[in-house]
Amino acid sequence: MGWVAGKRVLSRMVLVGGLLVSGLTLAGELPSAEAIRAALTQAHERYQGLDEGANADYIPALAKVDSDIFGIVLVTVDGRVFSVGDVKSEVSIQSISKVFTMALVMEEKGVAALPDTMGVDATGQPFNSIHAIEQYRGAEMNPLVNAGAITATSMVQGRNADTVWKKILGFYNDFAGRKLTVQDDIYASEAATNQRNQAIAHLMHAYGHLQGDPVQATDIYTRQCSVGVNARDLAVMAASLANGGVNPVTGKAVMTAANVPEVLAVMATAGLYDDAGKWLYATGLPAKSGVGGGIIAVSPGKFGIAAISPPLDAAGNSVRGQKAIADISAALGGNPYEVVPYQR
Ligand code: GLU
Repeated sequence: MGWVAGKRVLSRMVLVGGLLVSGLTLAGELPSAEAIRAALTQAHERYQGLDEGANADYIPALAKVDSDIFGIVLVTVDGRVFSVGDVKSEVSIQSISKVFTMALVMEEKGVAALPDTMGVDATGQPFNSIHAIEQYRGAEMNPLVNAGAITATSMVQGRNADTVWKKILGFYNDFAGRKLTVQDDIYASEAATNQRNQAIAHLMHAYGHLQGDPVQATDIYTRQCSVGVNARDLAVMAASLANGGVNPVTGKAVMTAANVPEVLAVMATAGLYDDAGKWLYATGLPAKSGVGGGIIAVSPGKFGIAAISPPLDAAGNSVRGQKAIADISAALGGNPYEVVPYQR
């Protein structure tokens, strides 16, 4: 299959019409089950004992989450699920939710709706920066920082808060392939301490990007961040993006294939907070992390992968999660920019 012990075999040749040709650029080439299992096991063993980083604590309930949770799941576009470690424990999805609310807005309003409002550019500033809003008057940002994310939540259509919330949760459920629920302790903790997000929402309202009620938008946003997910849920969600908007496990078309590239583009430029550039440089993978310790990454046309490990580095990204996903993707040829020159 072109994969030996987690290494891509660059000399792979296939017979097509009697001619011996390189098969590496054939569409649909997926890593073998053996290679995936080996890569997952090795990464889990390598980083399980790594004692770096700390749980987020600016939302008080996040500090109490078990720091030892460490699970990794990879789901291929043909629907195979591979897992290692703790894949049952749930953490709050946090900022990873922003990807799927952004996708929902694209579904309802088209991909032009984002550049026309909060923008699709990396801010170069922290995810909850008020300075960035002031600098760009609420534009030239993106839906993966809080200002853009709360604005995106406010753009979801619905006659009242309950309708909007049910639509958002239903959309996430389709991506995960099961019914997700809110972690009430996390929601209560963030709702009691989210004054900064409320200020951000009001500023976006003042600049005319956030239409409707900023208090309601912040509340729904806080609820969407509190949805509980395990590593398998996140990996299936990522794999649905890797598979052109079709959940590879349930077979359901969960979003329009034509909108997926725009989702991945924003993830690539702004998915890992201030380290988005470093991450893309190292892996080439569109990704998104959350302060709950989850991280998803997408190898388009190949697989979605997720890891959960709550201790975060200074940029706010899961320490073990980043290292594990980077190693696994490298072993499986996940970098979409890595191509074999065309054989003349
Ligand atoms: N609910 C969190 C906040 O708005 C999400 C942050 C994150 O995961 O980056 O602060």
